[in-house]
Amino acid sequence: MKKVIVILIPAFIAVIACTSESSNSAQHTPQKMSTGNPYYSRQDTSKLQVANDEWKKILPPDLYGVARNKETERAFTGKFWDQDLKGTYYCAVCGNELFKSNSKFASSCGWPSFFESVRPNATIYVPDNTHGMRRTEVICGRCDSHLGHIFDDGPPPTGMRYCMNSISMDFEPDDSPASKK
Ligand SMILES: [Zn+2]
Repeated sequence: MKKVIVILIPAFIAVIACTSESSNSAQHTPQKMSTGNPYYSRQDTSKLQVANDEWKKILPPDLYGVARNKETERAFTGKFWDQDLKGTYYCAVCGNELFKSNSKFASSCGWPSFFESVRPNATIYVPDNTHGMRRTEVICGRCDSHLGHIFDDGPPPTGMRYCMNSISMDFEPDDSPASKK
């Protein structure tokens, strides 16, 4: 099993490298989090079953801590909490499309907040009774990584507040060449 993974990873990286080079006019992909991550894809929505041991080898430690160890970044410290740009937010671990900027709203909580995800199965909800609180955890619908929590004190039309960790997400502005399909 180990051998197969060792062989597959370079193959995947080669495929990713080829793909981005062959379509260089449309793919200028600036700060890609996908470097060295063979599971990262913004097109493939198939479910991932990857063990934490494997993620630990692939992800930067701070992303691993939040996404796989369910840590929370400190309020008002993330890169997206007060961002107001038009574009799309993706899972930083696997590339799954999560939120459009038109569902983001200014929240005073210090974390990026959205009133709905981009499609019903983009995110999954799990009861979380840790830290003496009854909350609902939000995880990625593709890779099960921890994204944040959801509360029912959001604005219309849904009344929901997806309270997310910035580090768990990648952002692609609408005017970036990579966003033009
Ligand atoms: Zn994911």
